[in-house]
Amino acid sequence: MNPYLDDDLLALAETARRYATDRVAPGFLERDRTRVLDRALMKEMGEMGFIAPELPESVGGQGLGRLAAGVIHEEIARADLSISYINLLASLNGQILAEHGKPEVAGPWLKRLTQGQALLAIALTEPRGGSDAANLRLRVERQGDHYVINGEKTSISAADQCDAVVVFGRTGTVDSGAHGVTALLVPADVPGLTRSRFDCHGQRAIGRGSLFFENVRVPVDHRLGDENRGFVQVMQGFDFSRALIGLQVLAVARIALEETWAHVAERQAFGKPLAAFQGVSHTLADHDTQVEAARLLCLQALWLKDRGAPHSAEAAMCKWWAPKLAYDTVHQCLLMFGHGGYDRGPMEQRLRDLLGFQIGDGTAQIMKTIIARTRAGRAAVPA
Ligand SMILES: Cc1cc2nc3c(=O)[nH]c(=O)nc-3n(C[C@H](O)[C@H](O)[C@H](O)COP(=O)(O)OP(=O)(O)OC[C@H]3O[C@@H](n4cnc5c(N)ncnc54)[C@H](O)[C@@H]3O)c2cc1C
Repeated sequence: MNPYLDDDLLALAETARRYATDRVAPGFLERDRTRVLDRALMKEMGEMGFIAPELPESVGGQGLGRLAAGVIHEEIARADLSISYINLLASLNGQILAEHGKPEVAGPWLKRLTQGQALLAIALTEPRGGSDAANLRLRVERQGDHYVINGEKTSISAADQCDAVVVFGRTGTVDSGAHGVTALLVPADVPGLTRSRFDCHGQRAIGRGSLFFENVRVPVDHRLGDENRGFVQVMQGFDFSRALIGLQVLAVARIALEETWAHVAERQAFGKPLAAFQGVSHTLADHDTQVEAARLLCLQALWLKDRGAPHSAEAAMCKWWAPKLAYDTVHQCLLMFGHGGYDRGPMEQRLRDLLGFQIGDGTAQIMKTIIARTRAGRAAVPA
Protein backbone atom coordinates (compact mmCIF):
# COMPACT_ATOMS: atom_id res chain seq x y z
CA MET A 1 0.00 0.00 0.00
CA ASN A 2 1.14 3.55 -0.71
CA PRO A 3 -0.58 6.86 -1.51
CA TYR A 4 0.04 6.59 -5.27
CA LEU A 5 -1.73 3.27 -5.86
CA ASP A 6 -5.47 3.03 -5.27
CA ASP A 7 -7.55 -0.18 -5.23
CA ASP A 8 -8.00 -0.15 -9.02
CA LEU A 9 -4.28 0.09 -9.63
CA LEU A 10 -3.56 -2.63 -7.06
CA ALA A 11 -6.11 -4.89 -8.78
CA LEU A 12 -4.50 -4.17 -12.16
CA ALA A 13 -1.08 -5.00 -10.70
CA GLU A 14 -2.45 -8.25 -9.29
CA THR A 15 -3.87 -9.26 -12.70
CA ALA A 16 -0.59 -8.38 -14.40
CA ARG A 17 1.38 -10.36 -11.80
CA ARG A 18 -0.78 -13.45 -12.31
CA TYR A 19 -0.31 -13.21 -16.07
CA ALA A 20 3.44 -12.57 -15.84
CA THR A 21 3.98 -15.41 -13.38
CA ASP A 22 2.04 -17.90 -15.52
CA ARG A 23 3.09 -16.81 -19.00
CA VAL A 24 6.25 -14.65 -18.94
CA ALA A 25 8.39 -16.04 -16.11
CA PRO A 26 8.61 -19.65 -17.38
CA GLY A 27 10.58 -18.68 -20.53
CA PHE A 28 12.88 -16.16 -18.82
CA LEU A 29 16.08 -18.23 -19.01
CA GLU A 30 15.27 -19.84 -22.35
CA ARG A 31 14.77 -16.51 -24.14
CA ASP A 32 18.22 -15.40 -22.96
CA ARG A 33 19.60 -18.34 -24.97
CA THR A 34 17.40 -18.10 -28.06
CA ARG A 35 17.57 -14.26 -28.13
CA VAL A 36 14.10 -14.18 -29.68
CA LEU A 37 11.37 -11.91 -28.40
CA ASP A 38 8.23 -14.00 -28.09
CA ARG A 39 5.67 -12.44 -30.44
CA ALA A 40 2.91 -14.67 -29.03
CA LEU A 41 3.50 -13.13 -25.59
CA MET A 42 3.46 -9.66 -27.10
CA LYS A 43 0.09 -10.36 -28.72
CA GLU A 44 -1.30 -11.78 -25.49
CA MET A 45 -0.14 -8.71 -23.58
CA GLY A 46 -1.89 -6.54 -26.16
CA GLU A 47 -5.10 -8.54 -25.79
CA MET A 48 -4.87 -8.23 -21.99
CA GLY A 49 -4.60 -4.43 -22.35
CA PHE A 50 -1.09 -4.35 -20.91
CA ILE A 51 0.55 -2.37 -23.72
CA ALA A 52 0.43 1.43 -23.43
CA PRO A 53 -2.90 1.55 -21.51
CA GLU A 54 -2.24 5.25 -20.88
CA LEU A 55 -2.87 6.16 -24.52
CA PRO A 56 -6.27 7.65 -25.37
CA GLU A 57 -8.99 5.17 -26.39
CA SER A 58 -9.22 6.91 -29.77
CA VAL A 59 -5.77 5.54 -30.70
CA GLY A 60 -6.16 2.09 -29.16
CA GLY A 61 -5.27 2.76 -25.51
CA GLN A 62 -7.55 2.75 -22.50
CA GLY A 63 -7.07 6.32 -21.30
CA LEU A 64 -5.67 5.12 -18.00
CA GLY A 65 -3.11 7.14 -16.06
CA ARG A 66 0.65 6.71 -16.35
CA LEU A 67 0.64 4.94 -12.97
CA ALA A 68 -1.31 2.12 -14.63
CA ALA A 69 1.48 1.76 -17.17
CA GLY A 70 3.92 1.85 -14.25
CA VAL A 71 2.40 -1.06 -12.32
CA ILE A 72 2.19 -3.19 -15.47
CA HIS A 73 5.84 -2.44 -16.30
CA GLU A 74 6.78 -3.57 -12.78
CA GLU A 75 4.98 -6.88 -13.02
CA ILE A 76 6.24 -7.82 -16.47
CA ALA A 77 9.81 -6.77 -15.60
CA ARG A 78 9.67 -8.82 -12.41
CA ALA A 79 9.17 -11.86 -14.63
CA ASP A 80 11.55 -10.83 -17.45
CA LEU A 81 13.14 -7.41 -17.91
CA SER A 82 13.70 -8.08 -21.62
CA ILE A 83 10.02 -8.77 -22.25
CA SER A 84 9.04 -5.59 -20.41
CA TYR A 85 10.87 -3.71 -23.18
CA ILE A 86 7.73 -4.37 -25.22
CA ASN A 87 5.82 -2.22 -22.73
CA LEU A 88 8.55 0.40 -22.49
CA LEU A 89 9.04 0.87 -26.23
CA ALA A 90 5.27 0.99 -26.74
CA SER A 91 4.72 3.62 -24.03
CA LEU A 92 7.61 5.78 -25.26
CA ASN A 93 6.90 5.49 -28.99
CA GLY A 94 3.13 5.43 -28.49
CA GLN A 95 3.23 8.81 -26.78
CA ILE A 96 5.43 10.22 -29.55
CA LEU A 97 3.15 8.93 -32.32
CA ALA A 98 -0.05 9.97 -30.57
CA GLU A 99 1.19 13.51 -29.86
CA HIS A 100 3.29 14.24 -32.94
CA GLY A 101 2.18 11.88 -35.73
CA LYS A 102 -0.32 12.54 -38.52
CA PRO A 103 -3.44 10.58 -37.53
CA GLU A 104 -3.73 8.88 -40.92
CA VAL A 105 -0.14 7.56 -40.68
CA ALA A 106 0.32 7.11 -36.93
CA GLY A 107 -3.22 5.80 -36.26
CA PRO A 108 -2.85 2.31 -37.82
CA TRP A 109 0.58 1.88 -36.19
CA LEU A 110 -0.82 2.85 -32.78
CA LYS A 111 -3.61 0.28 -33.11
CA ARG A 112 -1.10 -2.47 -33.95
CA LEU A 113 1.21 -1.27 -31.17
CA THR A 114 -1.42 -1.44 -28.43
CA GLN A 115 -2.74 -4.77 -29.74
CA GLY A 116 0.73 -6.31 -29.48
CA GLN A 117 1.00 -6.75 -33.23
CA ALA A 118 3.83 -4.29 -33.87
CA LEU A 119 7.05 -3.46 -32.09
CA LEU A 120 8.53 0.02 -32.56
CA ALA A 121 12.15 0.90 -31.82
CA ILE A 122 13.60 4.36 -31.21
CA ALA A 123 16.84 5.43 -32.87
CA LEU A 124 18.83 8.32 -31.51
CA THR A 125 22.34 7.00 -30.83
CA GLU A 126 24.99 7.10 -33.57
CA PRO A 127 28.47 5.58 -33.81
CA ARG A 128 30.08 8.91 -32.94
CA GLY A 129 28.20 9.13 -29.61
CA GLY A 130 24.94 8.95 -27.71
CA SER A 131 25.32 11.30 -24.73
CA ASP A 132 25.67 14.41 -26.89
CA ALA A 133 22.43 13.44 -28.59
CA ALA A 134 21.62 16.89 -30.01
CA ASN A 135 24.80 16.63 -32.08
CA LEU A 136 23.51 13.72 -34.14
CA ARG A 137 24.46 13.55 -37.84
CA LEU A 138 22.22 11.04 -39.65
CA ARG A 139 21.48 12.90 -42.91
CA VAL A 140 17.85 13.61 -43.77
CA GLU A 141 17.20 15.60 -46.95
CA ARG A 142 13.86 16.68 -48.25
CA GLN A 143 13.23 15.79 -51.91
CA GLY A 144 9.73 16.85 -52.96
CA ASP A 145 7.20 14.96 -50.91
CA HIS A 146 9.78 12.54 -49.45
CA TYR A 147 12.65 12.58 -46.99
CA VAL A 148 15.82 10.70 -47.98
CA ILE A 149 17.85 9.22 -45.13
CA ASN A 150 21.54 8.25 -45.19
CA GLY A 151 23.82 7.14 -42.38
CA GLU A 152 23.89 4.84 -39.37
CA LYS A 153 22.20 4.49 -36.01
CA THR A 154 23.71 2.14 -33.49
CA SER A 155 22.99 0.43 -30.16
CA ILE A 156 19.27 0.42 -30.92
CA SER A 157 17.13 -1.88 -28.78
CA ALA A 158 15.12 -4.35 -30.87
CA ALA A 159 16.93 -3.12 -34.02
CA ASP A 160 16.48 -6.40 -35.88
CA GLN A 161 13.14 -7.40 -34.35
CA CYS A 162 11.13 -4.20 -34.69
CA ASP A 163 8.49 -3.41 -37.30
CA ALA A 164 9.15 0.33 -37.46
CA VAL A 165 11.54 2.86 -35.98
CA VAL A 166 11.21 6.42 -34.72
CA VAL A 167 14.37 7.94 -36.21
CA PHE A 168 15.99 11.26 -35.35
CA GLY A 169 18.05 12.80 -38.18
CA ARG A 170 19.63 16.09 -39.16
CA THR A 171 17.66 18.30 -41.52
CA GLY A 172 19.41 21.50 -40.42
CA THR A 173 23.07 22.43 -40.46
CA VAL A 174 25.55 20.74 -38.10
CA ASP A 175 25.78 24.02 -36.17
CA SER A 176 22.03 24.09 -35.63
CA GLY A 177 22.38 21.45 -32.88
CA ALA A 178 19.07 20.51 -31.27
CA HIS A 179 17.24 22.97 -33.57
CA GLY A 180 18.09 21.12 -36.80
CA VAL A 181 16.77 17.66 -35.91
CA THR A 182 13.68 16.05 -37.42
CA ALA A 183 11.94 12.89 -36.20
CA LEU A 184 10.50 10.41 -38.71
CA LEU A 185 8.52 7.20 -38.49
CA VAL A 186 10.31 4.65 -40.68
CA PRO A 187 8.74 1.23 -41.39
CA ALA A 188 11.43 -1.43 -40.98
CA ASP A 189 10.78 -2.99 -44.40
CA VAL A 190 11.56 0.13 -46.48
CA PRO A 191 14.11 -0.40 -49.27
CA GLY A 192 17.64 0.69 -48.30
CA LEU A 193 17.34 -0.07 -44.58
CA THR A 194 19.50 -2.94 -43.30
CA ARG A 195 19.88 -4.10 -39.73
CA SER A 196 22.39 -5.95 -37.56
CA ARG A 197 22.31 -7.68 -34.17
CA PHE A 198 24.96 -7.38 -31.42
CA ASP A 199 26.00 -10.11 -29.01
CA CYS A 200 24.77 -8.37 -25.83
CA HIS A 201 25.81 -8.96 -22.22
CA GLY A 202 22.17 -8.95 -21.07
CA GLN A 203 18.65 -8.09 -22.25
CA ARG A 204 19.33 -10.68 -24.90
CA ALA A 205 15.74 -11.46 -25.85
CA ILE A 206 15.19 -7.88 -26.99
CA GLY A 207 18.77 -7.34 -28.18
CA ARG A 208 20.46 -4.34 -29.73
CA GLY A 209 21.92 -3.61 -33.10
CA SER A 210 22.67 -1.08 -35.82
CA LEU A 211 20.47 0.40 -38.53
CA PHE A 212 22.09 1.32 -41.84
CA PHE A 213 20.24 3.78 -44.07
CA GLU A 214 21.14 3.99 -47.76
CA ASN A 215 18.91 6.40 -49.64
CA VAL A 216 15.92 5.34 -47.58
CA ARG A 217 12.84 7.27 -48.70
CA VAL A 218 9.86 7.99 -46.45
CA PRO A 219 6.90 10.22 -47.33
CA VAL A 220 6.82 13.64 -45.69
CA ASP A 221 3.62 12.67 -43.86
CA HIS A 222 5.74 10.23 -41.79
CA ARG A 223 7.33 13.18 -39.99
CA LEU A 224 6.73 13.37 -36.25
CA GLY A 225 6.37 16.95 -35.09
CA ASP A 226 7.71 19.86 -37.12
CA GLU A 227 10.78 19.91 -39.35
CA ASN A 228 13.89 20.81 -37.33
CA ARG A 229 11.88 20.63 -34.09
CA GLY A 230 12.08 16.87 -33.55
CA PHE A 231 14.59 17.07 -30.77
CA VAL A 232 12.89 19.81 -28.80
CA GLN A 233 9.31 18.49 -29.22
CA VAL A 234 9.74 14.75 -29.30
CA MET A 235 12.42 14.31 -26.64
CA GLN A 236 9.88 15.31 -23.98
CA GLY A 237 8.74 11.67 -24.03
CA PHE A 238 11.91 10.53 -22.34
CA ASP A 239 10.82 11.88 -18.95
CA PHE A 240 8.03 9.30 -19.02
CA SER A 241 10.26 6.39 -20.03
CA ARG A 242 12.86 7.27 -17.40
CA ALA A 243 10.36 6.83 -14.59
CA LEU A 244 9.12 3.59 -16.17
CA ILE A 245 12.68 2.27 -16.42
CA GLY A 246 13.09 3.01 -12.71
CA LEU A 247 10.07 0.87 -11.90
CA GLN A 248 11.19 -1.92 -14.22
CA VAL A 249 14.65 -2.30 -12.70
CA LEU A 250 13.41 -1.93 -9.12
CA ALA A 251 10.89 -4.72 -9.73
CA VAL A 252 13.83 -6.95 -10.67
CA ALA A 253 15.60 -5.91 -7.45
CA ARG A 254 12.43 -6.59 -5.46
CA ILE A 255 11.98 -10.18 -6.63
CA ALA A 256 15.71 -10.80 -6.08
CA LEU A 257 15.36 -9.49 -2.51
CA GLU A 258 12.31 -11.67 -1.85
CA GLU A 259 14.14 -14.78 -3.02
CA THR A 260 17.24 -13.84 -1.06
CA TRP A 261 15.40 -13.13 2.21
CA ALA A 262 13.82 -16.59 1.91
CA HIS A 263 17.19 -18.14 1.16
CA VAL A 264 19.06 -16.54 4.08
CA ALA A 265 16.27 -17.47 6.47
CA GLU A 266 16.64 -21.11 5.39
CA ARG A 267 20.30 -21.78 4.68
CA GLN A 268 22.55 -22.46 7.65
CA ALA A 269 26.21 -21.69 8.35
CA PHE A 270 28.03 -21.98 11.67
CA GLY A 271 24.90 -23.59 13.13
CA LYS A 272 22.54 -20.67 12.41
CA PRO A 273 20.46 -19.33 9.52
CA LEU A 274 22.51 -16.91 7.39
CA ALA A 275 20.00 -14.18 8.34
CA ALA A 276 21.21 -14.40 11.94
CA PHE A 277 24.48 -12.75 10.85
CA GLN A 278 24.18 -9.01 10.65
CA GLY A 279 26.69 -8.93 7.81
CA VAL A 280 23.97 -10.68 5.82
CA SER A 281 20.72 -9.27 7.15
CA HIS A 282 21.80 -5.64 7.49
CA THR A 283 23.19 -5.63 3.97
CA LEU A 284 19.85 -6.85 2.66
CA ALA A 285 17.95 -4.44 4.92
CA ASP A 286 20.00 -1.52 3.52
CA HIS A 287 19.12 -2.45 -0.05
CA ASP A 288 15.51 -3.22 0.80
CA THR A 289 15.13 0.26 2.32
CA GLN A 290 16.57 2.03 -0.69
CA VAL A 291 14.60 -0.02 -3.22
CA GLU A 292 11.39 0.92 -1.39
CA ALA A 293 12.35 4.62 -1.38
CA ALA A 294 13.44 4.67 -5.02
CA ARG A 295 10.17 3.04 -6.07
CA LEU A 296 8.22 5.81 -4.37
CA LEU A 297 10.26 8.39 -6.29
CA CYS A 298 9.39 6.67 -9.58
CA LEU A 299 5.69 6.56 -8.70
CA GLN A 300 5.91 10.23 -7.70
CA ALA A 301 7.38 11.12 -11.13
CA LEU A 302 4.49 9.34 -12.91
CA TRP A 303 1.99 10.97 -10.55
CA LEU A 304 3.43 14.39 -11.43
CA LYS A 305 3.23 13.56 -15.15
CA ASP A 306 -0.41 12.54 -14.80
CA ARG A 307 -1.08 15.97 -13.31
CA GLY A 308 0.84 17.83 -16.01
CA ALA A 309 3.35 19.06 -13.42
CA PRO A 310 7.09 19.45 -14.16
CA HIS A 311 8.95 16.21 -13.49
CA SER A 312 12.15 16.25 -15.61
CA ALA A 313 14.43 16.34 -12.57
CA GLU A 314 12.47 13.58 -10.79
CA ALA A 315 12.54 11.41 -13.93
CA ALA A 316 16.30 11.90 -14.27
CA MET A 317 16.70 10.97 -10.59
CA CYS A 318 14.77 7.75 -11.24
CA LYS A 319 16.91 6.98 -14.28
CA TRP A 320 20.31 7.29 -12.60
CA TRP A 321 19.45 6.03 -9.12
CA ALA A 322 17.22 3.04 -9.78
CA PRO A 323 19.41 1.16 -12.31
CA LYS A 324 22.51 1.57 -10.12
CA LEU A 325 20.62 0.62 -6.97
CA ALA A 326 18.94 -2.36 -8.63
CA TYR A 327 22.28 -3.57 -9.99
CA ASP A 328 24.01 -3.20 -6.61
CA THR A 329 21.07 -4.92 -4.88
CA VAL A 330 21.02 -7.92 -7.21
CA HIS A 331 24.81 -8.11 -6.95
CA GLN A 332 24.50 -8.46 -3.15
CA CYS A 333 21.64 -10.95 -3.54
CA LEU A 334 23.73 -13.05 -5.90
CA LEU A 335 26.59 -13.12 -3.38
CA MET A 336 24.20 -14.33 -0.66
CA PHE A 337 23.63 -17.46 -2.76
CA GLY A 338 27.37 -18.20 -2.73
CA HIS A 339 28.70 -20.23 -5.64
CA GLY A 340 25.13 -21.12 -6.65
CA GLY A 341 24.44 -17.47 -7.46
CA TYR A 342 27.36 -17.39 -9.86
CA ASP A 343 26.03 -20.27 -11.96
CA ARG A 344 23.92 -19.53 -15.02
CA GLY A 345 20.45 -18.89 -13.64
CA PRO A 346 17.95 -16.21 -12.67
CA MET A 347 20.20 -14.17 -10.40
CA GLU A 348 23.17 -13.86 -12.75
CA GLN A 349 20.82 -13.19 -15.68
CA ARG A 350 19.10 -10.43 -13.72
CA LEU A 351 22.47 -8.84 -13.04
CA ARG A 352 23.39 -8.94 -16.74
CA ASP A 353 19.98 -7.64 -17.77
CA LEU A 354 20.12 -4.72 -15.33
CA LEU A 355 23.53 -3.40 -16.32
CA GLY A 356 22.29 -2.16 -19.70
CA PHE A 357 19.96 0.33 -18.06
CA GLN A 358 22.91 2.15 -16.48
CA ILE A 359 23.75 3.16 -20.08
CA GLY A 360 20.62 2.88 -22.25
CA ASP A 361 18.32 5.95 -22.29
CA GLY A 362 21.18 8.08 -20.94
CA THR A 363 23.97 7.49 -18.44
CA ALA A 364 24.06 8.61 -14.79
CA GLN A 365 26.33 11.55 -15.69
CA ILE A 366 23.85 12.85 -18.24
CA MET A 367 20.94 12.39 -15.81
CA LYS A 368 22.81 14.31 -13.12
CA THR A 369 23.46 17.11 -15.62
CA ILE A 370 19.70 17.29 -16.26
CA ILE A 371 19.03 17.50 -12.52
CA ALA A 372 21.73 20.16 -12.11
CA ARG A 373 20.27 22.20 -14.99
CA THR A 374 16.82 22.06 -13.44
CA ARG A 375 18.13 23.22 -10.10
CA ALA A 376 20.89 25.69 -11.06
CA GLY A 377 19.58 26.81 -14.47
CA ARG A 378 20.76 25.97 -17.97
CA ALA A 379 23.17 28.92 -18.15
CA ALA A 380 25.03 27.66 -15.09
CA VAL A 381 25.22 24.07 -16.42
CA PRO A 382 25.95 24.36 -20.16
CA ALA A 383 26.74 20.64 -20.81
C1 LIG B 1 21.04 -1.74 -23.14
C2 LIG B 1 21.09 -0.52 -24.01
C3 LIG B 1 19.99 -0.18 -24.75
C4 LIG B 1 20.03 0.95 -25.58
N1 LIG B 1 18.95 1.23 -26.36
C5 LIG B 1 18.99 2.31 -27.18
C6 LIG B 1 17.89 2.59 -28.04
O1 LIG B 1 16.90 1.87 -28.08
N2 LIG B 1 17.98 3.69 -28.84
C7 LIG B 1 19.06 4.51 -28.84
O2 LIG B 1 19.06 5.50 -29.57
N3 LIG B 1 20.13 4.26 -28.05
C8 LIG B 1 20.11 3.17 -27.22
N4 LIG B 1 21.20 2.87 -26.45
C9 LIG B 1 22.38 3.72 -26.53
C10 LIG B 1 22.52 4.62 -25.33
O3 LIG B 1 21.48 5.58 -25.27
C11 LIG B 1 23.92 5.28 -25.37
O4 LIG B 1 24.85 4.23 -25.26
C12 LIG B 1 24.11 6.28 -24.27
O5 LIG B 1 23.33 7.43 -24.48
C13 LIG B 1 25.57 6.71 -24.14
O6 LIG B 1 26.12 7.03 -25.38
P1 LIG B 1 27.51 6.37 -25.84
O7 LIG B 1 27.41 4.91 -25.60
O8 LIG B 1 27.81 6.82 -27.20
O9 LIG B 1 28.59 6.90 -24.81
P2 LIG B 1 29.34 8.32 -24.88
O10 LIG B 1 28.36 9.38 -25.19
O11 LIG B 1 30.53 8.16 -25.74
O12 LIG B 1 29.80 8.46 -23.36
C14 LIG B 1 30.83 7.62 -22.83
C15 LIG B 1 30.97 7.92 -21.34
O13 LIG B 1 31.28 9.30 -21.15
C16 LIG B 1 30.34 9.90 -20.28
N5 LIG B 1 30.05 11.26 -20.69
C17 LIG B 1 29.72 11.72 -21.93
N6 LIG B 1 29.49 13.04 -21.90
C18 LIG B 1 29.64 13.43 -20.62
C19 LIG B 1 29.53 14.68 -19.94
N7 LIG B 1 29.16 15.81 -20.57
N8 LIG B 1 29.76 14.69 -18.59
C20 LIG B 1 30.12 13.57 -17.93
N9 LIG B 1 30.23 12.36 -18.52
C21 LIG B 1 30.01 12.30 -19.85
C22 LIG B 1 29.09 9.05 -20.38
O14 LIG B 1 28.28 9.16 -19.21
C23 LIG B 1 29.69 7.66 -20.55
O15 LIG B 1 30.00 7.11 -19.29
C24 LIG B 1 21.20 1.74 -25.63
C25 LIG B 1 22.31 1.38 -24.88
C26 LIG B 1 22.27 0.25 -24.10
C27 LIG B 1 23.49 -0.13 -23.32
